[in-house]
Order: sequence, then C-alpha cells, then structure tokens
Amino acid sequence: VANRRHVIAGNWKMFKTVKEAEDYAVKFLEDVKNVTDLDIILCAPFTALYALKNELEESVVHLGAQNMSWADQGAYTGEISAQMLLEAACTYVILGHSERREMFGETDEAIAKKVRKALEAGLTPILCVGENLSVREAGKAVAQVQGQVAKALEGISPEDLSRVVVAYEPIWAIGTGKTASSQDAQEMCAAIRFTLARFMGTASEKVPILYGGSVKADNIAELLSESDVDGALVGGASLDPQGFAKLIHNAA
Ligand code: PEP
Repeated sequence: VANRRHVIAGNWKMFKTVKEAEDYAVKFLEDVKNVTDLDIILCAPFTALYALKNELEESVVHLGAQNMSWADQGAYTGEISAQMLLEAACTYVILGHSERREMFGETDEAIAKKVRKALEAGLTPILCVGENLSVREAGKAVAQVQGQVAKALEGISPEDLSRVVVAYEPIWAIGTGKTASSQDAQEMCAAIRFTLARFMGTASEKVPILYGGSVKADNIAELLSESDVDGALVGGASLDPQGFAKLIHNAA
C-alpha cells in the first residue's frame, strides 16, 4: 500500500459571515494547531477567505475555495479567478461539486477547463465526482464516476495530474445522514485510482482520493481504514469548530 498522507477538507458551502468565520478560526486553531500528521483544509465562501488568511497564515490549516472560473479575467459577471483566490492565500479549490453540477448547470467540459486553469495557476484542485441514487441502483455508478474522472482530466500532463486531489461524493450520501459503507467507498476509490492510472501510470498511487457524504467524527476512522480512502470532504460536520476538530483528531 502506498504511503499517502491523509487529507481532511471542510466544505462550509454557503455558510458563515466574515465575523463567524473569524470566530471559528480562533476556536478551531486552538484545537488543531498541533495536528501535523494529516493535511487540514477549510473551503470557505469567497468573502470569508481574505479574513481567514489573516487568522490562519502560517498555521497547519490550509485554505480552499469552493469554485473558480476557467477564465483568467474579463467580462464574466459573478465569477472569480484563480489569481483572486491565490491573493486570498488559497492553495486548494473544490471543482465540480455535485451542487454546482446539479443546481448551476456545470458540465464535465466546464469542470475540465477549471481543473486545467487551477493547475496552471498553481492551485490544487479537489475534483468532485459521484453518482445519484438511480445510477447506483441501476448498477452504473462505477462506470459513470470513472467517466467523470476521465472527462475532467483528459489531456492534462502526468506531472500536473500528480497535484490533483479527487473526492468521491455519492449524491445520495451528501447532507442526508446516509454514509456510504466503507466497502462501497473503498470500491469506488479503487476504481477511480484505476482510471487515474490510465492517465498517469503508477503515479496514481500518490493521488489522494477522498470520500465525502455524511462523514462525521464517529465514522471517519472506519472509512480511513480502507486502503484507497485517503481522507474526507466534510460538509455539515465541518461547520462547528470543536466538532470538526474532534473529527480531525479521530482521523489523525
Ligand atoms: C459535501 O457537500 O461536500 C458533503 C460531503 O456534505 P455532507 O458532509 O454534509 O454530507
């Protein structure tokens, strides 16, 4: 088994004002400041990022955004660029989250352009993939998820691909309290790694593949015991600083 560092990323979604984010950062840091054996990421709303930069700079906590444009700059009302995220001290960006695919019409093609742009700018993309319940029940989940991975990464050089993080998030498990079994998570994360190997050979062994979908402090350890599950993308359970810190300690 490859020796991969674990990654725990919180996705706040559309929660927290600047003040709330600052209060969170103080409490959270107090609890996780000595955690060095895994990577901790907070993916905050755009408006909170710059404030968090001041709170978290030179700490063990890395900053991420939840979306980004494929364009450098220009007449793209409502969009945000890679350079703007870098300026706010982001090193990660979630791309292709199922909420963006489902509610805001993001296509595999747009996500592929965003992944390329993030890598070009020096940001680490957290590429989200995952099937809905009807696809899973039809027995087509593995094929669909492998297709999403392939479409997002097509044509990217193996060197650039070595900086990608993938998050497997079955849509039926997001925000529902219904976690995938650790065996189902393992099966899909291994299938994703198999697809990565088509593009990058054995370097796929180095790519962190996360599971997301109702991860909590009391199920993280079991998920991480699976050989291809390298961490988690955490929505609801990342919103309370002490609760998220507990989850991280259970993962470390
Ligand atoms: C997510 O949206 O990335 C997520 C995994 O949400 P939750 O943990 O709330 O299911």
